[in-house]
Amino acid sequence: MMRFEGKAVLVTGAATGIGRATAIAFAREGASVMIGDIDDRADETVAMILGEGGRAAFRKTDVRKAPELDELVAQCLDRFGRMDAAFNNAGVLPPQRPIHEIPEDELDLAIDVDFKGVFFAMQAEIRHFLKVGGGAIVNTASVGALIADPNMSAYCAMKHAVSGLTKAAAVEYAQQGIRVNAIAPGFVVTPMTQHWADSNEFTQMFFAQNISGRAARPEEIAPTVLHLCSDGASFINGATFTIDGGQTAH
Ligand code: NAD
Repeated sequence: MMRFEGKAVLVTGAATGIGRATAIAFAREGASVMIGDIDDRADETVAMILGEGGRAAFRKTDVRKAPELDELVAQCLDRFGRMDAAFNNAGVLPPQRPIHEIPEDELDLAIDVDFKGVFFAMQAEIRHFLKVGGGAIVNTASVGALIADPNMSAYCAMKHAVSGLTKAAAVEYAQQGIRVNAIAPGFVVTPMTQHWADSNEFTQMFFAQNISGRAARPEEIAPTVLHLCSDGASFINGATFTIDGGQTAH
C-alpha cells in the first residue's frame, strides 16, 4: 500500500525511537518526510530513508521555540511543496521523583517539551492547514495520559494535557477539515525507556502486570499513526488511541 504517495508529512522527534520508526514507515508508503529534532542523529534517519529510495530532509529544531516550528513548516513547504499531515512526537521523560522533590527546572522541561512543544507545533501546522483547506495531526501522548505511575507526575500531567489539547483542537478545527488525534503508547523500548528495559526487576514487575507480557517495539506504534493520518481515518477526530498491549485493560 502507498497511502502517502505524492504527500508530505512533518515528524518531530524522529532521531530515535517511535518518531524514527514512524518517519521510516511514512517514507515506505510514499511520503516525503520533513523531520524536526534537536538531536543530529535525525540525519541517520534521513540517510536510512534516502538509502531506501525515499524522500526526507532534516532541520535541527527545538520544539520549545515556536519560531523554529514555524521555520520547520516553511522548510517542509519549500523542500516538498506541500504538507498534508504532521506527527508531533518529540518528548522527554524527566527524572523520576516524588512531587515534593521535583525542582522547578525539571518541571519546566516537561511543560516546555512535552506540552508547549506540541502546542507550538500545532499552531504552525494549523496556520498552514487553514490556508490549504485541511490536514491531519497526530500528537504523541502516553498511557500516562490515562493513568498515573508513581514519580512521573509532571510527565503524566503533560501527557494528560496533550490528550486534552488534542480534543480541544479537534473541536476548534473540524469544520475547516483539520483532524487532530493522539496516540497513547504503553511501554515501548526506545532510548527514553532503555534504563527500564535494562532493569530486570522493573521489567519483570511490568511484564507480570501487562497481559501481553512484553514491551512494544517502535515499529508496532507507527502503523496506528499512519492510519490516523490517512484518508481511511476520515471520521476519526479528537480521539486518543491506546497502543499498550492491554496494559490499561485490567
Ligand atoms: P526517544 O527518546 O527515542 O525519542 C524522543 C525524541 O524527541 C528524540 O528524537 C529526541 O531527540 C526528541 N526531542 C527531545 N527533546 C526535543 C526538543 N526540545 N526538540 C526537538 N526534539 C526533541 O523516545 P521515544 O520513546 O521514542 O519517545 C517519543 C514520544 O513517545 C515521546 O513523546 C514520549 O513521551 C512518547 N512515549 C514513549 C513511550 C515509551 O515507552 N518509550 C511511551 C509512551 C509515550
